[in-house]
Amino acid sequence: MSEFLPLLEQIWETRVLTNNGPFHQQLEARLQDVFDSEHVSLATNGMLALTSAIDASGLSGEVITTPYSFVATSHALALAGLTPVFVDIRPSDLNIDPAAIEAAITERTSAIVAVHVYGNPCAVAEIEAIAERHGLRVIYDAAHAFGVRYQGRSLLSHGDFAALSFHATKAFNTFEGGAIVSRHAEGKRAVDSARNFGIADEVNIPVVGTNAKMSELNAAFGLVQLNHFEDVRRRRGAVDRLYRELLGHIRGIDLIDIPAEVEPNYSYFPILVRDTFPVSRDALYDALKAQGIYSRRYFYPLLSSLPMYRDHPSAAPGRMPVAEQAAQQVLCLPIYPDLSKTDQWRIAEAVLAQAHV
Ligand SMILES: *Cc1c(COP(=O)(O)O)cnc(C)c1O
Repeated sequence: MSEFLPLLEQIWETRVLTNNGPFHQQLEARLQDVFDSEHVSLATNGMLALTSAIDASGLSGEVITTPYSFVATSHALALAGLTPVFVDIRPSDLNIDPAAIEAAITERTSAIVAVHVYGNPCAVAEIEAIAERHGLRVIYDAAHAFGVRYQGRSLLSHGDFAALSFHATKAFNTFEGGAIVSRHAEGKRAVDSARNFGIADEVNIPVVGTNAKMSELNAAFGLVQLNHFEDVRRRRGAVDRLYRELLGHIRGIDLIDIPAEVEPNYSYFPILVRDTFPVSRDALYDALKAQGIYSRRYFYPLLSSLPMYRDHPSAAPGRMPVAEQAAQQVLCLPIYPDLSKTDQWRIAEAVLAQAHV
C-alpha cells in the first residue's frame, strides 16, 4: 500500500485518469521486457484482450479451439460471430492436441485459439507449423501464462497474438486488467484501434471497435505489483514443490508435470482424481470443503457442454474423451504465496484421509 499511495496521489494531482496516460505507458514499456516483445497493449480485462485480438485478426467462419478452458475463450469467439469448433486435448498437459487441430480444419477455418492451460505451454511449434500450412491465424488465450518462459524466451512471444488476464485471481493482477502481445507492429496497431472504438484519429473511424482501455488506476497498481512478481513466483514455487512431495505418490492421484525448458508461474496446482482413487473427484471436493479447504473444479463443466455450444457437431459427447475425463477428474488445490507449510500439510492429510476410506 505504501508503494501505491504516491502513485494514487499523482493521479489525483495530474488528473490524468485514463486514455494512455503516464502509468499506462510505463506499464506497457515494462511489460515489453517481461514478454520479450515490443508490441504490448494493455486492456481492461482478459475477455476484452481476447476480443481485441480476435477483432484485430479479421477472422470469419470457424475457429478451432479447446473445450477445456474458462468460458471467456469460447464466448469471445461467439460474441464476434464466429463458430467455435471444439477439438480434444492431450493427456500430458491438458492443452489442445495438435493432431486433433489438423483433423478439424475445413475451408471455413480461419484461426486456432489455443489456451496455455495452467500456464503450461501449448505445442507452440506444431501449432505454428499447422497454421502456416493452412494459412490460419493463431491466438493464444494466455490468461494463465504471465511470466512463463519456454525454451529461454517468454511464452507470450508465440502466436499472432497472446491475450493475458490481470484479474485478481491470476498470477499478476491489476484488480481487473489484461494485455495483448502482438507478433508484429501492424498487429499492435490493429489491436490498439480495436480497443479504442476503432478510432484512427480525431475525424477517422475506419473500423468497428470496442472500449478495452486500461485506466491509470489499474496501470499504477500493476506497476507496484510488478515489483513483487519474482518474489511471488519464488514463494508459489516453494508451495508447488511441497505439494509434489506430499501428494506425488498417492495411488489414484496424478499430478501434471512441469515440462523441461519451462519456467512456470505456479498459478495453479491441479490434481487428477483417477478411477483408482477410492472416492470420486466430487466426493474429494466435498470432503475438503467440509474441512474448510476450498478447491476448485477448474475446468468443469466443459465449454462444449454449455447450452449455447452443445448442439454444434464438434461438441457431441464422446468426441473429446481426454477433455471429458479431465473435466470429471480435475481438482485445483489452493496455491498462493502466503500458504503456510502447516496448512499444506493439513490439505495433504485431508486428501490422504480419502485415500484410505
Ligand atoms: C481468467 C481467464 C479469462 C478471462 O480473463 P478476465 O480478466 O477475467 O476477463 C480468459 N481465459 C482464461 C483461460 C482465464 O482463466
